[in-house]
Amino acid sequence: MESDPPAAPDRVEHSDEVAALTARYGRIPASERVRLAKSTSNLFRFRAPVSGGLDVTGLDRVLRVDPRRRVADVQGMTTFEDLVAATLPYGLMPLVVPQLKTITLGGAVAGLGIEASSFRNGLPHESVLEMEILTGDGGVVLARPDNEHAELFRGFPNSYGSLGYALRLLIELQPVRDYVRLRHVPFDSTASCAEAIERIGRSGSWNEQRVDFLDGTVFGANELYLTLGTFTSRAPYTSDYTGNRIYYRSIRDREVDHLRTHDYLWRWDTDWFWCSRAFGAQHPAIRPFWPRRLLRSDVYRRLVSLDQRHGLSERFYRLRGRPSREPVIQDVEIPLDRLAEFLEFFHREIGISPVWLCPVRLRDSQGWPLYPMDPATLYVNVGFWATVPLGEGQSVGTYNRAIEAEVSELDGHKSLYSTAYYEPEEFWRRYDGATYQRLKQRYDEAGKLPDLYDKCVLGT
Ligand SMILES: Cc1cc2nc3c(=O)[nH]c(=O)nc-3n(C[C@H](O)[C@H](O)[C@H](O)COP(=O)(O)OP(=O)(O)OC[C@H]3O[C@@H](n4cnc5c(N)ncnc54)[C@H](O)[C@@H]3O)c2cc1C
Repeated sequence: MESDPPAAPDRVEHSDEVAALTARYGRIPASERVRLAKSTSNLFRFRAPVSGGLDVTGLDRVLRVDPRRRVADVQGMTTFEDLVAATLPYGLMPLVVPQLKTITLGGAVAGLGIEASSFRNGLPHESVLEMEILTGDGGVVLARPDNEHAELFRGFPNSYGSLGYALRLLIELQPVRDYVRLRHVPFDSTASCAEAIERIGRSGSWNEQRVDFLDGTVFGANELYLTLGTFTSRAPYTSDYTGNRIYYRSIRDREVDHLRTHDYLWRWDTDWFWCSRAFGAQHPAIRPFWPRRLLRSDVYRRLVSLDQRHGLSERFYRLRGRPSREPVIQDVEIPLDRLAEFLEFFHREIGISPVWLCPVRLRDSQGWPLYPMDPATLYVNVGFWATVPLGEGQSVGTYNRAIEAEVSELDGHKSLYSTAYYEPEEFWRRYDGATYQRLKQRYDEAGKLPDLYDKCVLGT
């Protein structure tokens, strides 16, 4: 990885695929709800499967990696798994690689994304230089921060395909080394953990060693770990968590670890953080027989989708006389100085464990209207993905609503890939309705694409 990079090949053209897609889009009648026909998704809003949809075949390739300029030209439906596979041979990676292999570049920009490099590099859309977008009205525009479509460029992140679809994105890349050295640092309180995040966020280092990646795992109110990743050219050994050993358990067991950079980037995918345990995939009697190639987040998500469609878990709970459960699957951004308050509420009222922490500061000083985080503030993304038993008289939505209220109270933000319960007025106040409506008017006047509120809250 650290020898001279090969010369950049010419860019693969994709105008034929764009023309074909535009024609297919034009043939969709105005009365029909437009949906992407994609084989994978990482959304957590399950709808009944529909036939048809907009066929996006041929829009899932890396068109060019330019090692000299450190940029890549990438089609919108390209998965990060394929994107990383294309850039690593050049000793490069995207500035933020979301943890799940089938998240696509377009999905991470239109629906946001985050990872352990986010305390340095912000969110994935902040390293996009330009985007070719099929807009709701059927035109194709090139949106850049400095051209006539600059407002669309800024308003596209968090628009969830409701203004248009990104067909090609030019993104920045950063150099990597062959290995990542991990330090799992324990803390016995949120306050001490938050203090360490503040120090690392300010200095970019810990105990005089540079920190390239920073995330955290909370096993309980008094058991938190920060995992500090540092690129290195040499490693005394490397660990493998793609088979019988399980990454998140290693955090408690060892202070230092080494992973190949490729394996570091996908460390969370193998067990979908820790969520694979719900399918028995971590059980010692099952794990050795679970094919390695099926230890993947997209496999587990398909299982959840099947379960939701057929109501299997719900029937199981009912038959055994157990209470129904509410899925509480969310990522929220909390200002670092309110993290302790949030986790105190969370342990007391929700009680899910483990919880994932990922510090993030916007890279861009101007901010992004549809997800208005303050560029001067260091936030911590708190991720939790499980179900919670409902009490007597409680209905689905009880816990998610409580979380929404707490996040608002603490000046946080909630991402929209899962369920949301906001009333329209509050939703548009939080996600800049004025800018959104202006963009909708300009790029999808006839409303061929569904509205952001309908999509993310009503789930239609
Ligand atoms: C359990 C769980 C954990 C998660 N953890 C993380 C995490 O740690 N880090 C992280 O970064 N993200 C995480 N996510 C969220 C994920 O990044 C977002 O859901 C993302 O939008 C999914 O991208 P996708 O490519 O799978 O898109 P899809 O699921 O296919 O689509 C997502 C939305 O984006 C729209 N869309 C898709 N492609 C395009 C495009 N080319 N142009 C415009 N709109 C498009 C779709 O219409 C849809 O509304 C998590 C999600 C779950 C369920």
